[in-house]
Amino acid sequence: MKDNVTLDLLNQCANDIILLTDADDRIIDANDRAVAAYGESREALLQRTLPELLDPAARAAFARHWQRAGEPEGAIFATVCQRSDNTTFPAEVSVRPIEANGRQFRHSSIRDIGRRQVLKASLPDRWEFYANVLEHFPNPVWRADPDGQGRYFNQSWLEFTGRTLEQELGDGWVADIHPDDREDWLRALREAGRERRSLIREYRLKHHSEGYRWIYDQGKPCLDTDGTLLGYVGACHDVHAEKQLQEQLRYIGQYDPLTGLPNQTLLEDRLRQALANARRSKKQIVLLFTDLDCFKIVNDSLGYKVGDRLLQQVAQRLKHCLREGDTLSRRGGDEFLVILSDLKHVEDAAHVAEKLLQSLAGPYTIDGIDLHISASIGISIYPDDGQDAETLLRNADTAMYFAKQNGRNRYQFFTPEMNSRAYEYLMMQNHLRRALERGEFELNYQPQVELRKGAIVGVEALLRWRHPESGMIAPSQFIPIAEECGLIVPIGEWVMHEACRQGRLWQEAGLPPLTIAINLSAVQFHKEDILKTIEQACRENRLDPSRLELELTEGTVMQNAEDAIMILRELKAMGIKLSIDDFGTGYSSLSYLKRFPIDRLKVDQSFVRDITSNEDDAEITRAIIGMAHGLGLKVIAEGVEHEDQLKFLRWQKCDDMQGYYFSRPLQAGAFEDLLASGRTLKN
Ligand code: C2E
Ligand code: MG
Ligand code: MG
Repeated sequence: MKDNVTLDLLNQCANDIILLTDADDRIIDANDRAVAAYGESREALLQRTLPELLDPAARAAFARHWQRAGEPEGAIFATVCQRSDNTTFPAEVSVRPIEANGRQFRHSSIRDIGRRQVLKASLPDRWEFYANVLEHFPNPVWRADPDGQGRYFNQSWLEFTGRTLEQELGDGWVADIHPDDREDWLRALREAGRERRSLIREYRLKHHSEGYRWIYDQGKPCLDTDGTLLGYVGACHDVHAEKQLQEQLRYIGQYDPLTGLPNQTLLEDRLRQALANARRSKKQIVLLFTDLDCFKIVNDSLGYKVGDRLLQQVAQRLKHCLREGDTLSRRGGDEFLVILSDLKHVEDAAHVAEKLLQSLAGPYTIDGIDLHISASIGISIYPDDGQDAETLLRNADTAMYFAKQNGRNRYQFFTPEMNSRAYEYLMMQNHLRRALERGEFELNYQPQVELRKGAIVGVEALLRWRHPESGMIAPSQFIPIAEECGLIVPIGEWVMHEACRQGRLWQEAGLPPLTIAINLSAVQFHKEDILKTIEQACRENRLDPSRLELELTEGTVMQNAEDAIMILRELKAMGIKLSIDDFGTGYSSLSYLKRFPIDRLKVDQSFVRDITSNEDDAEITRAIIGMAHGLGLKVIAEGVEHEDQLKFLRWQKCDDMQGYYFSRPLQAGAFEDLLASGRTLKN
């Protein structure tokens, strides 16, 4: 018998004292509990008989019961046991006879019922006591039938729901559970009953005054001694505040607080989901990487608060262009990402991009100020441009940079060649940084000629980059990059100083006085210290500011027109001349044009090019000249290459011209020779 290890283990771990006695009532085995309960070692116990372990007063009664226990079904009776220190404890003994190898044994299971008796003594009426506890329990408690019919609800429950016990009984209480949680709750209840296990659920329970509140409910099936299901009981506690906090944390983790749009984390999640769906259904996914153009200027010149409000309005406009299934998110800064997951044709992506760009155009009114902003959009498409979220995002980003480089306010599809060009772009940034230190920039000068008398009246300083390996690089190739990474500010400052220095040298050489025009990019113009920088360049190079002209594009001044007016006025007060470059290509409002203290408009080359063959271009040029003169402004035409163009401009009473017809941009020395030669435009 002893070699049955499992049985042995069971005996050793039992909560009751287990004793095995032989036909002479001698103890032949005892479990650990017996050793602990009697306070004797196993060896000592094995020396004794069972009656010796009893209170002497209980022995007579014990003997009677013991005799009965010889029957096959055994016996259960109460007695009093005595420990080795002579203290006693009341016990319930359960005895069964066992036969093994032809010998008789008895298996006694002895339970210390001392605690039970104390409890019983202190509770005159157990049921009344428990009912009282339940009734005054601070948490809602319920009891239900096996089929879920309510049977009992404590005071706390009724206070929570604000209903009467009568209303809750039967299936009334189920109606208090939020409709979205009800089915799940009932299913869980039935399952717990079937499998005889407890259940834990969080659900929303109707509150007497606050709609629904989240509660945590811990239920248990109630079983009869034979295991029959009698029903369930459960106790709840209010976890509404925790739930709300959880929800808030989830929201913060997934949404951008400024615009309320999904943030980068949620976007990437959704993109992965969309990709998984697209893989299954063999559909395309389009990713639009949208980045605002020159947003930094708004932030720098008007402050973060205005910048933030602009971003909020941008988010609203973008949202209105999209359909329900599309995802719009803010990736941070001025970057917005759109996932289109239900497009039939690739062309539709272009259509959406177009719509987004259009929706962003048009003024934003913030604090009574009209602002303008555009965006550049890069597009990548699954599966052609990438199989996974990371690649698609990277490629859309690359395409966006190309859109910026190609003049902004446009969209650009990703192409595989871009990757190598994107690398070149990065290299270009690095080289640009060093170009300043290494003195690789120089200025070329293109004369501006008065049309009536033909004399050179001004000169435009045009930047050139003499790259040690690539040779001469045109500004259109590096200025957008320099603007993007902010390098345009130190580069522009260099241009200003160099042009002023050169102007001073010509003046000292006794050459005829002329105005030097400098191109100023939007990033420079909207920098806080622009006035100081210009003033300093003039002062340090001893050039009279009235010899300087600044060329600004429509975009630059319209971006934040009210602010621009202030800066322009101060520049004007310094004596500096102002002109609007590339006029006609941007978006400017006539009412502002009237308020800008400018001197000239430069008709963009694109109109001048076909002025003699394209009636529209001719008409636009005519209109610009007429309007400018009406506003008291002068007009200069740029990109004049042929005599016919010149004639047309003269005929239209355009004031000045600039172009290859008279001279290409020249190096300083060559320009000086030209000036010294006294050459004029032929009549
Ligand atoms: P822009 O200010 O409109 O300058 C006129 C451009 O037209 C110059 O190109 C000039 O070389 C070119 N051009 C002049 N006459 C003719 C002609 O008859 N035919 C044709 N086809 N082109 C002519 P460039 O030098 O390549 O400069 C391009 C643009 O780069 C400039 O346009 C200006 O926006 C920008 N840029 C040049 N220098 C600077 C600078 O120092 N700072 C800034 N921010 N931008 C500059
Ligand atoms: Mg210019
Ligand atoms: Mg121009």
